[in-house]
Amino acid sequence: MPDPANPFPPFSAPYSPDDSEIAATLLALPSLSAEQNARIDSTATRLIEAVRGEDGGFGGVEDMLREFSLSTKEGLALMVMAEALLRVPDAATADRFIEDKLGQGDFAHHRTRSSALLVNASAWALGLSARVIQPGETPQGTLGLIAKRIGLPAVRTATRQAMRLMGNHFVLGETIESALARAADHDAPHHHHRYSFDMLGEGARTVDDAARYFESYAAAIAAIGAAAGDRKPEDRPGISIKLSALHPRYEALSRTRVMSELVPRVLDLARRAKTHGMNFTVDAEEADRLELSLDVIGAVFADPSLAGWDGFGLAVQAYQKRAGAVIDHVHALAERLDRRITLRLVKGAYWDTEIKRTQERGLDGYPVFTRKAMTDLNYIACARKLLALRPRIFPQFATHNALSVATVAELAGDGGGFEFQRLHGMGDALYTRLHEDKPSFACRTYAPVGSHRDLLAYLVRRLLENGANSSFVALAADDSIPVAALLERPQQTIRTPDRAHNPRLPLPRDMYLPRINSRGVEFGDRAALDDLRAAIHGQSAPQAQARTATAEQAAIAVALARTGFAFWSRTAADTRANALERAANLLERRMPRFIALLQSEGGKTIDDAVSEVREAVDFCRYYAGEGRRLFAQGQPLPGPTGESNTLRLRGRGAMVAVSPWNFPLAIFTGQVAACLMAGNTVIAKPAEQTPLIAADAVALLHEAGIPDSALHLV
Ligand SMILES: Cc1cc2nc3c(=O)[nH]c(=O)nc-3n(C[C@H](O)[C@H](O)[C@H](O)COP(=O)(O)OP(=O)(O)OC[C@H]3O[C@@H](n4cnc5c(N)ncnc54)[C@H](O)[C@@H]3O)c2cc1C
Repeated sequence: MPDPANPFPPFSAPYSPDDSEIAATLLALPSLSAEQNARIDSTATRLIEAVRGEDGGFGGVEDMLREFSLSTKEGLALMVMAEALLRVPDAATADRFIEDKLGQGDFAHHRTRSSALLVNASAWALGLSARVIQPGETPQGTLGLIAKRIGLPAVRTATRQAMRLMGNHFVLGETIESALARAADHDAPHHHHRYSFDMLGEGARTVDDAARYFESYAAAIAAIGAAAGDRKPEDRPGISIKLSALHPRYEALSRTRVMSELVPRVLDLARRAKTHGMNFTVDAEEADRLELSLDVIGAVFADPSLAGWDGFGLAVQAYQKRAGAVIDHVHALAERLDRRITLRLVKGAYWDTEIKRTQERGLDGYPVFTRKAMTDLNYIACARKLLALRPRIFPQFATHNALSVATVAELAGDGGGFEFQRLHGMGDALYTRLHEDKPSFACRTYAPVGSHRDLLAYLVRRLLENGANSSFVALAADDSIPVAALLERPQQTIRTPDRAHNPRLPLPRDMYLPRINSRGVEFGDRAALDDLRAAIHGQSAPQAQARTATAEQAAIAVALARTGFAFWSRTAADTRANALERAANLLERRMPRFIALLQSEGGKTIDDAVSEVREAVDFCRYYAGEGRRLFAQGQPLPGPTGESNTLRLRGRGAMVAVSPWNFPLAIFTGQVAACLMAGNTVIAKPAEQTPLIAADAVALLHEAGIPDSALHLV
């Protein structure tokens, strides 16, 4: 359906296509000549040498560790604490947090207390990759020892210091003014130095947050514009914005609201940037917001008031399987409008989140690649595509990977019309060397600006990126890894399409094998959401009526359940499990029906309703699986007093399952399924508020093979 806010066809591409199909296409792209490959090797080697500091270079994880005396486990532990403290809103709570973590317990014995928050900190991962930390050491243990030695107040001061150091490494300035001043200082030694300022802050939770971020972007644009002077258009500074900072409901389910409220805000900022002839880039965020982001970007970009300005652009993530399709879409948009657009190609900074979310949502496949070499391969394929689309698209290659840089440099030739990009605090040595070797290649620095309060999300991404053992930056910093190993091409790593998917990352459906995970719905996938909404809409209103049972009726149900027990308790466990598994499959298939019921009777939102149906499905499969396992092994179920007895394997009799209104399907089904699997018969008593959902659930269980005599609804 045409959208008045966006006259162009919306972006559409399969959300999570099969890895091997993409690999087959990427591996079939024409290969580079031997001469080209030799030049790539030579450029990449020189860049790696610079990163490793063989010529007195700088940059890299180890340098950061050295610079901040963090190459000790004590220093790292302080950084871990500092990272945790960024989550704490005020100084008093911060002090209490430190007391809580360090003020008690015997820390000399590390295992006595452990805190997942600290052990899993991304800063600690940095130390692991740099081998500063030995297996078994924990930040809390280390910090406890320091606290014993120097006392808590000193630890508190040192932690604050660590927080500042971390901030300074990755953030150019706390205010746009200080950042601009620091950028001006940096200008001298590096010619062609360009900046894109990023006002820290994302994921607005409230309208006030969004308004604050808007003001901060607007003020930054004014300050950057005023400082831009008379530089050439491509050398002018820019700003990067995050759509999630500008709207508290920036999510696919709120599309209508987002289009009417967020588009005008972004357009307002873009117009301000245009008046200064600045660059303006929309950062790439999570995969489930990709389609929505392209709607917003398309609507803003198409606005006639922006005609004649070449600075508008967006970031695209090569780890997303849809990256190539996004580039085609953006190119088509720019062609129709006869305008230039800038496109920053990144690999993507939310990989862990994407994987976890996909698993949590029970999707059929991952929207991102699961092997790093696939991302690298796709990065180069996208780079080729972008370079061929010059000058309609102005490509910006943002990477700290020497091999990716060298490959893009080779593919780009000397024709210009593109730039490299790096993050402030990273890639300095690499790009200084590249500039020495290829003075015509421009590099822009992405420079975060902001206070500690807004630093956390950005910092965690950077620390995770540097700490990951597959990260190029971490590998390049490790002198024990031969340069040749860093030059292995992604196509050599992947080799054949069947190796495109990471075998250690099962598909979400297979995560709990032998139990099949419940299937979810990705709202960020417009086609899937539209289908679901249509199916929910198509459900007929429930016709049933509920009456409160009388005491006599309840007594009859109990008597019937008691009679039914003789048969059901002797039914084979496998038969009981099969019926529950059939029920799970039916529930999954009838998800729209149950969502409609959960919405009309239970007042659930669509996302809560999807989760609830899934939970009911999981309960059925879980009890079926556990029951089958325990009965098959002849393993006794623990009795109520803890003792076990094989006789207890049999059901106890007729059970009454009384369930609450707030999870009228999930808890209801869970209680009933557990009782049934154990061989009990059930009298199910739903909450008065939600009897129709219960009636449908019981009918479904009967349909799946639970005998009427074993399950009674009151
Ligand atoms: C100027 C600039 C701007 C940026 N803007 C954005 C932005 O708007 N949005 C954004 O998301 N990121 C952004 N980034 C961050 C960027 O995505 C990361 O810096 C980048 O992924 C690191 O890539 P690399 O080539 O430097 O390092 P490499 O070490 O070569 O690559 C690391 C990347 O590979 C990918 N990867 C790692 N493991 C796997 C795996 N198992 N399977 C598949 N892929 C894997 C991940 O993307 C990971 O970040 C920006 C970076 C720069 C330099």
